[in-house]
Amino acid sequence: MHAQLLTAAGRPLIAAELPAPRPGPRQVLIRVHACAVCRTDLHVVDGELADPNLPLVLGHEIIGTVVDKGTEADRFTIGDRVGVPWLGWTCGVCEYCRSGRENLCDRARFTGYQIDGGYAELTVADQRYCFAIDPCWGDVEAAPLMCAGLIGYRTLRMAGDAALIGIYGFGAAAHIVAQVARHQGRRLFAFTRPGDVAAQDFARSLGAEWAGGSDQPPPEPLDAALIFAPVGALVPTALAATKKGGTVVSGGIHMSDIPSFPYRILWEERVLRSVANLTRRDAEEFLALAPAAGIRTETVTYPLARANDALADLRNGALQGAAVLIP
Ligand SMILES: [Zn+2]
Ligand SMILES: [Zn+2]
Repeated sequence: MHAQLLTAAGRPLIAAELPAPRPGPRQVLIRVHACAVCRTDLHVVDGELADPNLPLVLGHEIIGTVVDKGTEADRFTIGDRVGVPWLGWTCGVCEYCRSGRENLCDRARFTGYQIDGGYAELTVADQRYCFAIDPCWGDVEAAPLMCAGLIGYRTLRMAGDAALIGIYGFGAAAHIVAQVARHQGRRLFAFTRPGDVAAQDFARSLGAEWAGGSDQPPPEPLDAALIFAPVGALVPTALAATKKGGTVVSGGIHMSDIPSFPYRILWEERVLRSVANLTRRDAEEFLALAPAAGIRTETVTYPLARANDALADLRNGALQGAAVLIP
């Protein structure tokens, strides 16, 4: 099969011909129809996340069709359409798995990081971590739901019942979260790179009542802030824009260092927290809610062979919505 392979951090992906993977007993073999490109993929390529399983097939926002399965794989039938997210395997016995927090599993394995992912024509996945995909979306449209949607949803959930949400970084995750937040009746402000008028217009088109640069204060204080840009300096910025008792949630897996800041912008019971990974429950909840919320994704497609171009466009902020690779 054709695949795009990461052989070393800091190097471009290379086109490779790999043997078709064989499903293990509880795995399904999936023909990949679409795989979205996540900022986490960039962090892996850049060596900002420790210990990827090199050589590696990236990609953890996979939509495809089951074409074969292992002897004990009974959850899907051949021909079923499934989605495969970042969470690829958990141990089921550690304190986190036993307390409904499998996203923090001590031995968790992640798709497109420790497990080969979807920058390929075929992939295998543990059936327990695959999800049926509502027919209301095409393959390309559905792909960004698998991480930008799922982890974005978990990030929004951590904001509790905040009525006025500020989103810092208006990319793939934010454009989905904005639609969920509006569906839930929340108000929305969007902060983009200073001067990124196109991203600000995009945010307004998705229901933001105000959009501006991250160097601007919001017109009124936020109940909660979600940070999707990998920029540590946004943490004190977001805290300073948030009301007493408000929450700032960082949704990314990696961010540049957070500069020191005065205690007074955290005081008055503001909460600063991160979100890590997802649970299968997050996925089930989000994938049930998203069709009812009428979630639509904005995508830019690339043939698999142009994976490096898709990564470069994401890095340069040249995309509106999500990049999606088509094998
Ligand atoms: Zn991701
Ligand atoms: Zn565990």
